Amino acid sequence: MFAGHYAAALAAKAIEPKAPTWALVAGCQLIDIGWSALVIAGIEHGRVDPSLPGSALVLEHMPYTHSLPGVIAWSLGAVLIARYALRLGWRPAIAIGAVVFSHWLLDLAVHRPDLELYPNGPKAGFALWDYPVIEQAVEIGLIAVAGMFWAAQRTVAGFKAWPAAMFVLTLVAVQIIAMLMPAVASSSIAETGPMALAVYLALTAGAAFLDRRANSPQPIA
Ligand SMILES: [Zn+2]
Repeated sequence: MFAGHYAAALAAKAIEPKAPTWALVAGCQLIDIGWSALVIAGIEHGRVDPSLPGSALVLEHMPYTHSLPGVIAWSLGAVLIARYALRLGWRPAIAIGAVVFSHWLLDLAVHRPDLELYPNGPKAGFALWDYPVIEQAVEIGLIAVAGMFWAAQRTVAGFKAWPAAMFVLTLVAVQIIAMLMPAVASSSIAETGPMALAVYLALTAGAAFLDRRANSPQPIA
């Protein structure tokens, strides 16, 4: 699951426009940003198995980012940071927290059982990855629908819709590139960390650029 996570961010932006786009875009991947960093640090681990359908990742140990208590802590932390560090109202702050939590629910749908329900407890995952065509269709469908709501909200608010369309197309392009890139058995999971981090941060920067444009209103050409 990559692009599908952003559907939650864009839908939240359409519902709660006061939440900054960059914070929602970072929030929807916050626990994967944490995961990338912890994988690089060797604290969470897994391996790559190119024979697997959908995703080659075998995620053996990720209690701090992808367990149920873990994601609840990250979500509450995001609400507090949004409220007190970013000085947002409670509604946008809670929207950001909900988007952080949405990551785990979407992962639950697609991951093979690797999401701990409590420390050392059973692992959950409905394994939509094992049906890659359906999984890709769900992700692209989610992002398309959420992207349309977001573009509509921008239009109503007096902003251009095309930057929203460009953002969604970028997500779909990254998704397709990732799908076509062959997983290499020898590549360690730690090697995927820096590339994933770079993508998440680049998309957050792109969203921040959209926020800057939105904060300086301009008539629709
Ligand atoms: Zn994840």
